[in-house]
Amino acid sequence: MSLTVASEEIAGSPEFRHLTSIAGIEIDLRYATDNNFVGRDLYSPFDCAWLHVEAASALERVVAWLAARRPDLTPLVLDALRPQRVQQQLWDALEGTGLQMYLANPVRGSIHSYGMALDITLLDASGRELDMGTGFDDMTNLSHPALEEGFLVAGQLNEEQVANRRLLREAMLQAGFVGINTEWWHFDCGDRDLVRRSFRRVL
Ligand SMILES: [Zn+2]
Repeated sequence: MSLTVASEEIAGSPEFRHLTSIAGIEIDLRYATDNNFVGRDLYSPFDCAWLHVEAASALERVVAWLAARRPDLTPLVLDALRPQRVQQQLWDALEGTGLQMYLANPVRGSIHSYGMALDITLLDASGRELDMGTGFDDMTNLSHPALEEGFLVAGQLNEEQVANRRLLREAMLQAGFVGINTEWWHFDCGDRDLVRRSFRRVL
């Protein structure tokens, strides 16, 4: 059995917090713009600047950790809550491309659809994204954290790029997020199986 909630009910639910209630972050939800791999706004008219309260609290721990160590840096949220219907559109957009490995199958559900995953990077003091070696949603092996040591040795990623990724991971993991092997920008809040079992999926 899976528990669900409609996107339209989010704003009135105490389970979720709006991203603008989190101090010290910047927000650029790429799927709410045409600056994404599908090339169009997938979120309008829904406001997807939401996280589950647990993920929102964890993101506040990221902000605090960075403020104490690297006050020159600011987290930039690239994606947060992604309703099931949008996950389905992304999945369909990648059908036949060989790139569906970069998405959770909508049948099983993305952790984003529970408001418990974040796509995130870091901005420097002048508001520029740190160089992570690839951009957000660059669906190539170069984006895979699991392979970055090899790319460093081969000279396809440099020390600074890998150091920037490690810093992002350190900031996220100490707050309770868990990274994945294929995308440097994606983090789940806690155990993904637990999330699928006990949190409500946003449709
Ligand atoms: Zn993600």
